[in-house]
Amino acid sequence: MSQDKNIILIDEFKKHISSINNSNVLIEEKNIFSKKFLVPLYDELKKVDVAHKKELGIKINNYKKMIDDIVEERLNNIEFEKLNSIKSEFDPMIPVDYLQSGSLNPVQIVTDQVIDFFERLSFDIIFDNEITTTDLNFTKLNIKEDHPARSLSDTFYINDKELLRVHCTSVTAKVLKEKNKQSEIKSVAFGNVFRKDDDDATHSHQFNQIDIVWVKENISISNLKWLIDALMKHLFKKNTKTRFRLSQFPFTEPSMEVDISCFACDGKGCNVCKKIGWIEILGSGLLHPSVLESAGIDSNKYSGIAAGLGIDRIVMLKYGINDIRYIYENDFRILKQFRGK
Ligand SMILES: [Zn+2]
Repeated sequence: MSQDKNIILIDEFKKHISSINNSNVLIEEKNIFSKKFLVPLYDELKKVDVAHKKELGIKINNYKKMIDDIVEERLNNIEFEKLNSIKSEFDPMIPVDYLQSGSLNPVQIVTDQVIDFFERLSFDIIFDNEITTTDLNFTKLNIKEDHPARSLSDTFYINDKELLRVHCTSVTAKVLKEKNKQSEIKSVAFGNVFRKDDDDATHSHQFNQIDIVWVKENISISNLKWLIDALMKHLFKKNTKTRFRLSQFPFTEPSMEVDISCFACDGKGCNVCKKIGWIEILGSGLLHPSVLESAGIDSNKYSGIAAGLGIDRIVMLKYGINDIRYIYENDFRILKQFRGK
């Protein structure tokens, strides 16, 4: 029995479309073929006698179904090939550019180390607004009206009464006022402070400070010396020594500068300590009675120890950074050196 010539035509159509890779072109080809193929069959259906009409009708429907199935299969293959071709562009063997991952900024690293130290001593850790009042920033801290620190050329004023804080001691002033009914106040304030300085290797208009205060009955300079000594050993080396020199700050009496033995040469003298074996690190003292009184704390009953230090200075010393601007530029080449520190 010879094969149905229509089946042969459909087979040829199937071969023809096997190389088509575009679904729109495929649909177009289907329409062209169906027209060419089916029109003569419908013409035949009109002419055929009633006895064979049904049989021919079924055949035509089968042909149409075959064409639909063939086109459907090819459409699926086109989609599949498209997906495969995308996959083939992915080559897991090509070397990649590693994502640049930085690290915590060294300011944050040192801040975390200081927080860790004071949390263990149950101090309140405080980050307050960078905008404060002249009252908290100066008046409550015994900084008189004519003190040069208040000058327009040193301070970023917002208006007569508000400014960008020049030190975190303004936060301490606020804490003392808010907690003046407590028998003990232990607080550490962290954050940015602002001064009208031209930016160079050792100056920045914005830097980070820590301000520490501990108020209670009978707290004394020995407590201050112990606290600072323990903090320096925690931040630098276990054998770090501290020495206190008399100084002058408006909000402490007596006031003392603190030096630490050089961590780079253990006090023998090197470039880090400029050959003197000691490094100036912070200011501290006993809170001035007028600061306690301004906060509503009885200075006859209570005393307070206080210290303020620059985080940036510690960062620069600790990691041997000789330009403060490196700390704030967030350059990956700098930051990646602090991974895991
Ligand atoms: Zn040294």
